[in-house]
Amino acid sequence: MTDGHFDKIALIGIGLIGSSIARAVKAKGLARTVTISSRSQETLDRARELELGTDYVHDAGTAVEGADLVIVSVPVGASGKVAEDIAPHLKPGAIVTDVGSTKTSVVAQMLPHMPKTVHFIPGHPLAGTEHSGPDAGFAELFQNRWCILTPVHGTDKEAKRRLAAFWEALGSKVDEMDTEHHDKVLAIVSHLPHIIAYNIVGTADDLETVTESEVIKYSASGFRDFTRLAASDPTMWRDVCLHNKDAILEMLARFSEDLAYLQRAIRWGDGEKLFDLFTRTRAIRRSIIDAGQDTSAPNFGRPVADKKS
Ligand code: NAP
Repeated sequence: MTDGHFDKIALIGIGLIGSSIARAVKAKGLARTVTISSRSQETLDRARELELGTDYVHDAGTAVEGADLVIVSVPVGASGKVAEDIAPHLKPGAIVTDVGSTKTSVVAQMLPHMPKTVHFIPGHPLAGTEHSGPDAGFAELFQNRWCILTPVHGTDKEAKRRLAAFWEALGSKVDEMDTEHHDKVLAIVSHLPHIIAYNIVGTADDLETVTESEVIKYSASGFRDFTRLAASDPTMWRDVCLHNKDAILEMLARFSEDLAYLQRAIRWGDGEKLFDLFTRTRAIRRSIIDAGQDTSAPNFGRPVADKKS
């Protein structure tokens, strides 16, 4: 069997992430059978119309029967129930993974249900958009993006290698972390930016002296970029906040302290402090571009016609 290839893959959840995996698996021929399961008949029907897999079953337990690789792609708050439902049907030797944005909570929810005969290896592809559902996915989503595996103690090395090879076949770079460290890193690079975006867009919406139509009409790139993050799926982000509570609160406390420092610098006209910080942060942007994680094109490469601000 070639690296990254599985005979049967079961995809539990077929939204943005699940359907992107399905499309990439199909494009790269990584499985003979891809069985798809989703909570609602509507989403399952749509997956069939889009020809994302080879079999479609409503029941997650039935879907995982005989699967060599099971990928759970549902909101993190639902992962425990899914684990409970699929556990009795898992094939001995199967690899079970997930794509949830928080890891300590997912392990706490899923691990107790996992039979000793399967390899449970949690994962998180650092790739996504603000869209959701089976239509939102695309095969290139994971290209050149990191996928972090957070294996539990004693995980079988060969199973880990096979899962890493699968993500690499999807175009990802694979890294490994413990769950707590993952949750701290993600709190700052992903969860906090989304919370700040939800907050700033909410504040603009609540303003009394500036009308909503003015906010929309004059939205310059700064505000517009926040609205993209703030348009992300409410269920997913509610669950991320509830399931990475400690790390998010820790980062929010740091953030509030630093904001107070910035506030003081503005109040006292301390241009030097402002200039120093803005110079430091500009260098971070440069490093992200140098690492190939974003484009250096002005305005994130938006077409010229889009440059209204
Ligand atoms: P999505 O597009 O909203 O799709 C969610 C899928 O989960 C659908 O198949 C949905 O089924 C199913 N689902 C929703 N609630 C459920 C429940 N209570 N029980 C069982 N199934 C349920 O979501 P997504 O963006 O693919 O996110 C899936 C996972 O990937 C989440 O854990 C998220 O944290 C993680 N993730 C997301 C991103 C991102 O940018 N979006 C990036 C990396 C990781 P129905 O449609 O049939 O209801």
